[in-house]
Amino acid sequence: MYKQIEELINQKKEKYFNTSDKIWDIAETKFHEKESADVLINVLKEEGFDIETNIGDIDTAFVASFGNEGPVIGFLGEYDALPSMSQKAGSTQKEVNPDTENTNGHGCGHNLLGTASLAAAIATKDYITEHNIPAQIKYFGCPAEEGGSGKTFMARAGAFDGLDMAICWHPGTDNAIWGVKTLANIQAAFEFKGKSAHAANAPDMGRSALDACELMNVGGNYLREHVTPEARYHYAYLDAGGLAPSVVQDHAKLLYLIRAPKGSQAKEIYDRLCKIAEGAALMTETEVTVHFDKACSNYIPNVIYSRIMGDVMMNYGAPEFDEEDQVFAKAIHDTLTEEEKQFRMVPPATPVEQKVLAENPGKVLADYVYPFNEVLTNVTLPGSSDVGDVSWIVPTVQCIVATEVQNTAMHTWQWVTNGKSGIAKKGMIQAAKIMAATAVKVIEEPEYIDQAKAELKAITDITPYVNPIPKEVKPNSLKF
Ligand SMILES: [Zn+2]
Repeated sequence: MYKQIEELINQKKEKYFNTSDKIWDIAETKFHEKESADVLINVLKEEGFDIETNIGDIDTAFVASFGNEGPVIGFLGEYDALPSMSQKAGSTQKEVNPDTENTNGHGCGHNLLGTASLAAAIATKDYITEHNIPAQIKYFGCPAEEGGSGKTFMARAGAFDGLDMAICWHPGTDNAIWGVKTLANIQAAFEFKGKSAHAANAPDMGRSALDACELMNVGGNYLREHVTPEARYHYAYLDAGGLAPSVVQDHAKLLYLIRAPKGSQAKEIYDRLCKIAEGAALMTETEVTVHFDKACSNYIPNVIYSRIMGDVMMNYGAPEFDEEDQVFAKAIHDTLTEEEKQFRMVPPATPVEQKVLAENPGKVLADYVYPFNEVLTNVTLPGSSDVGDVSWIVPTVQCIVATEVQNTAMHTWQWVTNGKSGIAKKGMIQAAKIMAATAVKVIEEPEYIDQAKAELKAITDITPYVNPIPKEVKPNSLKF
């Protein structure tokens, strides 16, 4: 099976390279991924999948389906880029892409993410067709992972209902099962309206919206002492009221991003921040309007499926990088400071990872694999992902595959410049193989599905899943 999956993917390799490069070139940001989605949809149509678009009221979200009986396996794909990350592909220095006026860039490798999941869905489809095995394959085109929680809106619309398994991956600097939890989050804007006046001549006539924002932040910062220590919240000014200090600012707006291990904790902090906002409005005689933007749930890895994917990953091993890859990787690695070189996307948290690293000192490309370490499924990564919501609805498994230079961080020019390289492509193909073989193993031994579902049910029996986005909130309603 392993060999055959590999061959099925290799046969169509050029098509996948082309797809990933195209999405890198188009580089569209959250909720604007129209052309990127179309690139993927065209390939899926060509491969015999049925397409349903406009999922959850998002015109760049889609589901591609193949087959109508047997277990239902879902592959998750992302394809959004980041703003202000223009970078010339393949350059070993920070350098704006001279070929386009588009200033977006793929700083999180989602051109690879969406394409590898696509390749895995197609290979699984090809495999079950050849062996005449009943199964249903779905590819989920998930927009706006970066700050938009596209999957949570899709989950609210029921897109993931009825799946037996969800599979995803993320480009990275290492090869490992994504076995850690993530934080739930809520993002909301607080908009204050006051009364403008001449700040020197008639300050008594003004009511400052900017003061209200500042008082809200003071209150919010005092609140930190009284929330769960694992919680994080951060704010930014979407509108500081204007450029003239001589004016009492009658409008100002803050954006808060709240994170906590559980959705209920994030909601509690959000509710308390709403009270603080009301307090700030009361103190300043201004009015406040709260705009709920988006939210996502904490990710819960499925241990049963993670064990299977762990075995598959050990079987395939790491991507095989060549001399040219090593030279490019070294040049990129040399751009990091000594401090940056200490950064690890997958920290060696236990002796298991420490041993692997000790056996592979100083490598700029991870040609080694961390074995699946069940201990880490109780660890929470201080970040968030909208795969979280999928994981509460269907048992979900993810891995990280080395497509990037060791010690480089997500959302940096080093990731953008590497997006079309041989390193990225070898990692992408490896990720596709791992995901497809994991799916086939589960399809061929469906008792895993019962076990995986029982594992998730034990969690949701205690804490039922509640979609964290209120019904009335529309995707991308807060445009900024
Ligand atoms: Zn990402």
